[in-house]
Amino acid sequence: MSALDKYIVTEHDVLIIGAGGAGLRAAVESSAHGVRTAVICKSLLGKAHTVMAEGGMAAAMGNVDDRDSWEVHFADTMRGGGYLNNPVMAEHHAREAPSRVRELESWGAVFDRTKDGKILQRNFGGHRYPRLAHVGDRTGLEMIRTLQDHGIHQGLDVYMEMTVAALLTSGGRVVGAYGYDRERGRMRVWRAGAVVLATGGIGKAFRITSNSWEYTGDGQALAYEVGAELQDMEFVQFHPTGMVWPPSVRGILVTEGVRGEGGVLRNSEGRRFMFDDIPELYRNQVAKDEDEGWRYVTGDKHAQRPPELLTRDHVARCINREIKAGRGSPHGGVFLDIGWIKERMPNAREHIKKKLPSMYHQFMQLAGVDITTEAMEVGPTTHYVMGGIRVDGNTQMSNVPGLFAAGEVAAGLHGANRLGGNSLSDLLVFGQRAGEHAAKFAKSNPAADVDVAQLERETARALEPFDRPNGENPYTIQHDLQDVMQDLVGIVRTQSEMEQALDRIGGLNARSEKSGVVGHREFNPGWHTAIDLRNLLTVSEAVTRSALDRKESRGAQFRDDFPTKSDECSTFNTVISKGGDGAMKLERRPISKMRPELTAIVEKNK
Ligand code: FAD
Repeated sequence: MSALDKYIVTEHDVLIIGAGGAGLRAAVESSAHGVRTAVICKSLLGKAHTVMAEGGMAAAMGNVDDRDSWEVHFADTMRGGGYLNNPVMAEHHAREAPSRVRELESWGAVFDRTKDGKILQRNFGGHRYPRLAHVGDRTGLEMIRTLQDHGIHQGLDVYMEMTVAALLTSGGRVVGAYGYDRERGRMRVWRAGAVVLATGGIGKAFRITSNSWEYTGDGQALAYEVGAELQDMEFVQFHPTGMVWPPSVRGILVTEGVRGEGGVLRNSEGRRFMFDDIPELYRNQVAKDEDEGWRYVTGDKHAQRPPELLTRDHVARCINREIKAGRGSPHGGVFLDIGWIKERMPNAREHIKKKLPSMYHQFMQLAGVDITTEAMEVGPTTHYVMGGIRVDGNTQMSNVPGLFAAGEVAAGLHGANRLGGNSLSDLLVFGQRAGEHAAKFAKSNPAADVDVAQLERETARALEPFDRPNGENPYTIQHDLQDVMQDLVGIVRTQSEMEQALDRIGGLNARSEKSGVVGHREFNPGWHTAIDLRNLLTVSEAVTRSALDRKESRGAQFRDDFPTKSDECSTFNTVISKGGDGAMKLERRPISKMRPELTAIVEKNK
């Protein structure tokens, strides 16, 4: 009997972990390169987090404002990212996004149109011109539907409702993955020449989040365990507008599209408080009054954008300030009002229902609020992680040979903060690149034998919680972790609170090692939580250590004890890796230099 007999073993050239936009786009590309490609996902195919994306994908097509260009998109992305972005990635992204969007259309995606039949583009925070190609407020759904259809017809192998619990390495490279099916708990081994991680973000490390249950930082933690570097983990984006009421839906996203269509933020005194604090950097781009802001929303090229469309970190902090000052809404948020546009638009009700159908239903069904006539109550929610696996900007390969990453799990494109709409285009641009380069790598590096000793260790580790039926419930530990991250490493950070957080995470790690589950491996959500928890603890520690080291406020990180940007901190990216002693190691790595032509583009578009 072979040591592998107790596992279900399959072999592929390229194995893609994650079936969201990045994973599916990588799969389409890899399979187009003629290699055997498989995709694994925790839930059913088509149910990835990407499906929730509402507002649209950013691409400088210039369909609504012909002054737009890849150069302006590049400059906007770099400015939004506090100039910590990898400029190679920001350039590829800005140049290639329009082709990737048109390609998606040619595969069947049906975008909203301009009157003359072009793909319609809407305004979004931080983008100089209307740039987001969209399908009402269901853009992610259309994207996944299209990629899924296209991919399936190319003959992908799909493994649904399976969790990858470890990456397998041999001879210094990644040779596959180990995991289990969630339904039956059977152990599986996927052998592969190259692996692409496309597992998304880490939102479930926080108590209030727009993210789904799948976002437990798996890809970041799996990569870290086999020696990959994690970059800029301190930069976690808090979206300014999540639902705050009722409690069961707290955190669910209210798309920026609401503000793009004219929604305004008011405090309990009815004042548009976003006019109170406009950062110097944006002063010449922001409307002076309500009228100018409205003209911008309705497409006047010469008007400036309303202050509600400033970058997410800034809007989130302004909302936080109003709530803390006692000028919040009854349930601890502020008011977001789109219904007011009826004063300026005769068919406002139909317009809102047509442009924001999901938002209309979400509020009607979950909160009993008709957004065409009543204001929504909203507050900040953990939304996106800019940090992730450090990759080569051209190939998406990490420092571990054969291990690639794309989408939210990877770092580099967004620097210190992501502009809305830049994620969906990121998935297409870098999913394509990751798929292409993984396929090329696999062609010259066929699947190798797995290390049986490593496999046995991973199996023992995965099943350990069953040995402690009286151990603490992993759910309790996960909840405590979410409280720690929310309260001590949230929107406003300080040294002393983050030191407390590190201490508490250490304690939670110790508790997690003693946590236990009862029952057997079939349909056992407690066991799944125990495995996810290890990943959440790893990424939480990485976020906290990186945030502590960055003694400044930049992009999504706001430090109360260092409230401004520092010149010293503008020179490095934070890099986390696993040290030889098993402890987390932090380094400061110099940021990538921009080519002189790119520097000139940034200067010109400041
Ligand atoms: P995902 O789509 O999350 O896919 C991750 C995949 O990995 C899933 O299939 C999951 O099952 C799988 N997976 C995870 N762990 C494992 C494991 N251990 N084993 C096996 N499989 C695993 N961005 C925009 O640009 N525009 C928008 O309008 C926009 N709107 C948004 C609205 C909401 C409500 C939210 C939450 C986000 C929004 N974003 C938007 C952000 C954007 O949707 C995400 O960043 C993006 O979808 C991430 O895609 P991905 O392919 O990286 O990951």
